Amino acid sequence: MRLATGDTRRQPRSGLFQRNAAVAACPLLILLCAGGAFAQTIQNAEALWRAHDYEGANNTFKALVAANPKNADYRVRWGDLFYERFNQTEAGNLYQEALAIDPKNARALLGMARLLADNYDEKANQYAARAIETDPKLYQAHELMAKVALEDDNQMKAESEADAALAIQSDAVDAIAVKASIDLLADKESPWVAKIGNRGKGYETIAYFDVINRRYEEGIQFYRKAIAATPDLWSAHSQLGVNLMRLGREEEAKKELDLAYENHFRDAATANSLTLIDSYKKFDTFRTPTTVLRFNKKEADILLPYFQEVMLRAMATYEKKYKYTLKEPLQIEVYPDHDDFAVRTAGLPGLGGILGVTFNNIIAMDSPSGRPPGSFHWAATMVHEMSHAYVLSLTNERMPRWFTEGLAVHEETAASPDWGDRLSPEIIAAIRDKRLLPVAEIDRGFVHPTYPSQVIVSYYQAGKICDYISERWGESKLLDIIHEFARNRSTVDVVRDQLGMEPAAFDKDFLAMIDKETGKTVAGFPDWTKQVRELNQLAKDGKNDEVIAKGRAIEGLYPDYVEAGNVYTFIADACLKKDDKACAIDELGRYSKNGGRDTETMKKYAKLLADAGKPKEAAAALERLNFIFPQDAELHERLGGLLLDTGDAKGAVREFQALIAMHPIDTAGSHYNLARAYKAAGRKDQAREEAVSALEAAPNFKPAQKLLLEVSGEGDK
Ligand SMILES: [Zn+2]
Repeated sequence: MRLATGDTRRQPRSGLFQRNAAVAACPLLILLCAGGAFAQTIQNAEALWRAHDYEGANNTFKALVAANPKNADYRVRWGDLFYERFNQTEAGNLYQEALAIDPKNARALLGMARLLADNYDEKANQYAARAIETDPKLYQAHELMAKVALEDDNQMKAESEADAALAIQSDAVDAIAVKASIDLLADKESPWVAKIGNRGKGYETIAYFDVINRRYEEGIQFYRKAIAATPDLWSAHSQLGVNLMRLGREEEAKKELDLAYENHFRDAATANSLTLIDSYKKFDTFRTPTTVLRFNKKEADILLPYFQEVMLRAMATYEKKYKYTLKEPLQIEVYPDHDDFAVRTAGLPGLGGILGVTFNNIIAMDSPSGRPPGSFHWAATMVHEMSHAYVLSLTNERMPRWFTEGLAVHEETAASPDWGDRLSPEIIAAIRDKRLLPVAEIDRGFVHPTYPSQVIVSYYQAGKICDYISERWGESKLLDIIHEFARNRSTVDVVRDQLGMEPAAFDKDFLAMIDKETGKTVAGFPDWTKQVRELNQLAKDGKNDEVIAKGRAIEGLYPDYVEAGNVYTFIADACLKKDDKACAIDELGRYSKNGGRDTETMKKYAKLLADAGKPKEAAAALERLNFIFPQDAELHERLGGLLLDTGDAKGAVREFQALIAMHPIDTAGSHYNLARAYKAAGRKDQAREEAVSALEAAPNFKPAQKLLLEVSGEGDK
C-alpha cells in the first residue's frame, strides 16, 4: 500500500441512522415519543432493539434520556445502539455525555475504547485500561486490548490480555478467537478454534486478523465458517463480500453484499462496495496471458500504453530480482475517482490518503487524473504495489508489514532515483525528535500511530532500512530475508540470523547511517526555513543577483525539498529575469534530478533545453512527466516532435498516438504528425492512413498532401 504524504483523509461514513431523526413511526403516540406522560423503560428500548426495530428503540432511548437527563447508563446503551447501527459520531457523543455525568462509567469507557480501536487509534488502550480499573470484571475490555495488541503483531501482550479475559469469563469468544489467531498466524494448529463452537462471531474475528495480515483467502474461509455457524451474522456476509470483491470474484461478492444490505446491514463498506461493483460497467479491460489492465473507458486509450510499458518492465525486473514468476495474471485497476478506489480499502489499517493497494494478484490504484497534476507519481505507485504482489505471493503472505512496505518503497527508488518520495519536513521533525522506532517494533508505527505523521515516517524508515541492508549486505540479502520471513519467522530472529547482529546493534548502525545522510538537513532545517523566507522576500523585491547567491548558498542544506516555494525555482526564475538561460537550465537540472514534479516547471525546463539546441535532454525532461501526469496534450505534442527530431521514431509514434487519444483541437495537425512518425518508423501503411485522416479533417492541408504522396510510393518522382 502506498500513501500520499500529508494526506490523512478517511472515507466518510454514511450514517444512516440519526439521533434527531423525525419521529415518524408513531404519530399517534406523540406524547410517548416525546418522553411525555407515559413512562418509558429501558426494557422497552432493549426489547425493540432486539426485535430489530431500531427506529423504535431510538425513539424510546430519546424519551428515556429526556426524562432522566442525569442517567449515564441510558446514554451508554443509546450510544451502543448507534454504534451497532454504524453511526460512530453519535455513539461517541453519547459516550462522552455519559462520561461527563459519570467519569467512571466503565461501559462508556469501553464504548469509547471500541470506537477508537475501530479507527486504529492508539488511545483505545487507555480507555480500555480505565474501564478495567473501574470495573475489574469487564472482560470485554481485556478482549479489546488483546485485539489491539495482535493488530500490532504483539503476540505476547495479545496472549496475556486474552488470558486475563478468560480468567474472568472462561468462554469469552473474542479472547478465544485471539488465542486461535495467534496460533493460526504462526501456521500452527490451534486447539482454540474448536472452543469457538457454533459462535460465528469468533470465526469472524479470526477472519479479520487474516485479512489485516493480507491473508485474504484464509480470511474468506473463516468468514464462510462464521456464516455457517451463525447464518444471520450479516457483518460476516458483508465482509465476505468485500473480500471476494478485493480478489475480483464480483459475482459472489455482489450476492453476499446484497444479502447483507437487504437485511439492513448497511455500513459504509457494504453500501459503497455495491456502488463500486455497479460502476465496473464504466471500465474497459485489456488482457494478455500475464496481465490484465482495467481503465475507465474515458481514459483507457491515453493511459494503456504507458501503464503497460511500466508494468511489463517491472514484471521483468521482479522476475529476475525475486527469482519468481506469478502463478496468475497480474491485474491492475486504475480509478479516476478516488472514492471508488478508497472503497476497496475501507476498514484496513493505516490507509488514510492511500494511492494504491494490492490484494493478492489484484492492484487497485488512483488514476493520475484523480489527483492534481504534479502531486502523484503513478509509476512509482505502480512499481510499489507490484512489489507487494510478487513478494506476498512468493511468501504466501508471510511477511511483516514493515518489511513488505519498506521493500516496496526501496523498489520505487531502485526503478529510478527520482521516483521515490522525498525527505519531507515531517520526516525531518521525526528524525530530530528521535521518533524512529526500533526495528523490532516498527510494525506498530504503521498500524497504531502515536502522532499524526507516524505512518508516513514509518514508510520512510522501513524504506531506508531496506536501502541500508542493500548497501551493506548487498541487494540479494533482501531476497534472503524475504525467504526467511516466508518461513514465518519473527523480525528479531531474522535480523539476528540474516544480518548477524542483535536488533539493538542494527538500530544503532542504522541510525548512524540516517544521521550521516540527513544530519546536515535536520540540523540546518530551522535556519533553512528562515533563509527561504528571506529568499522569498528578495524575490519579491526583484533582487535577482541576491536571490541567486543566497539560493545557491542554501540549496545544498535541504536538496530534497522540491515542493511549492522550493529554492531551485526561486533561483531559476531569478536567472530568467536576468535573461541568463544557461543559469536557469543548470538550476532546473538540479530540480529535476532531485525529483521535482511540477508539470509547468518541467515543461519550462524542457523548452529551455530545446531552445538551447539540446533536444535529447529536452525529451528526457518531458518523458519524466509521462510517469506523473500523462493527460496533457501539450506534453505529447512537444515530446513527439522532439523524439521525431532526435530519431526516436517509435517513441514519437507513442506520443502522437497519445495526443490523438486526447482529442486535440488541431485534429489535422495531430494526424499529420502521427503520419510523419509512422513514416520515420518505416510503417508506410499506417502513415498513409494517418495522412488520409489529416486530409479528412483539413482537405487543403498541403504538408499532409505531400506526405500522402510520399508514402504512396509516388514521392520519389
Ligand atoms: Zn505498500
